[in-house]
Amino acid sequence: MTKRLSVVIPTYNRRPVLERTLPALSAQDLPPEEYEVIVVVDGSTDGSVELLRDWKPKCAFRVLQAEHRGPSAARNAGIRAAEGDLVLLLDDDHIAVPELFRQHCESHSGSEISLVHGPVYVAADSSQTMFRYISETCYEDFYHCLNPEIGLRYPNQGVSFIAVLAALGNSSISRHVLLRSGAFDEEIWAAEDLELGVRLWKMGVTFRYQPAAIVYEYYVKSSGNYLQKQAPALGAGDLIAGRKHPEYRPHSRLGGFAETSLPKKWLRSALMRLPISPVPLLALPLHLEKWFYRFSPMRRLGGHLLRSAETVARLRSALNVAGSWTALRSEFDRKLPGLLYHHVGPLRSSGPQAISISPERFERQMRWLARRGYTGIRASDWLRWLREGTGLPEKPVIITFDDAYADIAEYALPILRRYGFGAVVYVVTGQLGGSNHWDEARGCDTLRLMTGEQIKYWAGQGIEFGAHTRTHPDLTQLSASDVSEEVIGSKNDLSTLLGAPVVSFAYPYGAYNEGVRELVQREFDLAFGVEEGMNYLRGDPHLLRRIHIGPTDSFLEFALCVRRGKIMKLRALRNKFAVRTHLRRALSHFTGRLSHQE
Ligand SMILES: [Zn+2]
Repeated sequence: MTKRLSVVIPTYNRRPVLERTLPALSAQDLPPEEYEVIVVVDGSTDGSVELLRDWKPKCAFRVLQAEHRGPSAARNAGIRAAEGDLVLLLDDDHIAVPELFRQHCESHSGSEISLVHGPVYVAADSSQTMFRYISETCYEDFYHCLNPEIGLRYPNQGVSFIAVLAALGNSSISRHVLLRSGAFDEEIWAAEDLELGVRLWKMGVTFRYQPAAIVYEYYVKSSGNYLQKQAPALGAGDLIAGRKHPEYRPHSRLGGFAETSLPKKWLRSALMRLPISPVPLLALPLHLEKWFYRFSPMRRLGGHLLRSAETVARLRSALNVAGSWTALRSEFDRKLPGLLYHHVGPLRSSGPQAISISPERFERQMRWLARRGYTGIRASDWLRWLREGTGLPEKPVIITFDDAYADIAEYALPILRRYGFGAVVYVVTGQLGGSNHWDEARGCDTLRLMTGEQIKYWAGQGIEFGAHTRTHPDLTQLSASDVSEEVIGSKNDLSTLLGAPVVSFAYPYGAYNEGVRELVQREFDLAFGVEEGMNYLRGDPHLLRRIHIGPTDSFLEFALCVRRGKIMKLRALRNKFAVRTHLRRALSHFTGRLSHQE
C-alpha cells in the first residue's frame, strides 16, 4: 500500500540535534501506517548513522547514506526514494507538533496542485544567540503577512513572493509534481529551497499557508558559525537563484542594496574591495552573544551587528560568484533617473505652469548628459533589464515627453538622434494632429500635436511611443467604464497605428487611484507617474518616477534631477527666495514712492 506521506529530512553532522528532534516524528496523531520518515545522512562522521540505526519508531523509517554533497542532493535522494503521494520537507532541527503531519495531509484537497507550508518558530530551549534573536524577530513578521484563506499563484507578484520566501523548510507537495519540476538544484548549497519555490510557483503551483502546521526550530548554531558558513552560502545561493529567475532579484537580499544612502554605499564598496574578508573581525564581539542576549538593549545592538556582518558576508560571497563588483552591480544595483518634458520649441506656451523648454536649453541638457556618459533608454530597455537582468548601459536615463507636441519632432527628437539616445513619447491618441485643448481651461496657449505619420516615422528612428489616454482627462474623475475606454482605447489605437505592442503608459496629470492603477497594471508592463525620485530594481513598475524639467531650472537643478532624483526641496527653497526678492522689491518700490511723495 502506498503511504499518504513521506517525510524527507537531510542531516549533516548534527547528532545532538537529531537526539532532540527525532522523538516528535513518531509522536504524531496521524496513524503510523499512513506515513514514512526518510533521513538522508549527507556524509556525517559524528555517529549520526549509529544513532539513527538504533531508533525504532512506530512508523516506517529509512536511513539513506550518501557522500557529502550538500542539502540539495541529500533532499533529492530522499525524494527519489520516497513512496508517499505527498512529500513533507523538513530540516533536521525541526521539532514537529503532534498534529503536523495530519495538518499537512488534510490541507491538500481536491484537484488543486498546491504547496502547503506552515510556520517555523524558534524552540524555547534553543541556544541564546544573536542568530536566534534575529530569526525570532523576522519570522513573526513573515507570518503576519500571510492569509491562510487565500491560495497564492503566479504572477501575483507582491504577496506571492513573501509566501514563496516564507514557504520552504516546512512544506508539503505532491511527490509527482516535485519530480516533474526537477526537484532541488544540486549546485545550490543554501537558499536551495527558495530557488525551487520560485520554480514551482512559476509552474502554477498554488501556495497555501497552514498556520496550524507548526514546527519549532532548535537552534544550536553560534552566530560566528552562521557568519562563516551559512551566510556566504546564502549569498551565493541568492545570486544563482536571481540568475535562474530574474524576477526573483527584487525580492532577494541582494535586490535592495542599490537604495542605501551614499555613505553606506561607499563603506560597503570599500568592504567589498578588501583583499581579505572583514567578517571574522565583525564576528568577534559576537563571541559574547549569550551575554548580549540577556539584556534587551544589548540584544538589539548585537542583532544590528550580526545583520551588518551578515550583509557583508553574503555580498562578498555573491561577489565571488559574480566575478566582479561591476558584474554584480550590473545585475542588481542599477538606478534610472526619469526626466519629464512637455513642449520643446519656440517659447509660445504661457499660463500657470509653463511647459515649454527652448531648443537651445534642451540641447545643452542633452550635451551635458552625453558628456557625463549617460545614455537615453526606452521604457522597453528598462523592462528587459527588470525581466532578464541584462542589456542596460552603464549610466541609463529615461527621457520622456508627455502629450506628443508636434514641435518636439522638429526640435527635440533630432537632437536625441544625434546623441544616439532613445526616449519615450506619450501620445493622446484621440488627438493625433490636433491640439492640447485640455490646457485651455488652465489658461495655457494651445499647441499642435504630432500626427500619425510623424509618430510612425520617429518610431522607426529609435523613439518609443506610449499611451497617454484618448482625450487627456483626469482619470480619477471618470467612471470605471470611461477609464477603460480611455486607457485600453489609447493602447489599442497606438498599437494599431504602430503595428506593435505598447509597453508603457503615463497617467495624465500624474493622477491615479487604486482602480486606475489596477487597470493600468493589467494592460501595460510599465507606467509613469509624476512623483520625483529614482527608479530601482525594487520600485513599483506601475508608478515609475520622473521629474518635470521646468523652463527656468538652473543647471545645478538639472544635474540634481539626474544624479539624485530629488529636486522639490531645492525648488521650494528657490521659490521662497524668489517670493522674498519680489516682496523686497515691491516694498522698496513702495517705500521709495512714499519718500518721493514726502
Ligand atoms: Zn499630459
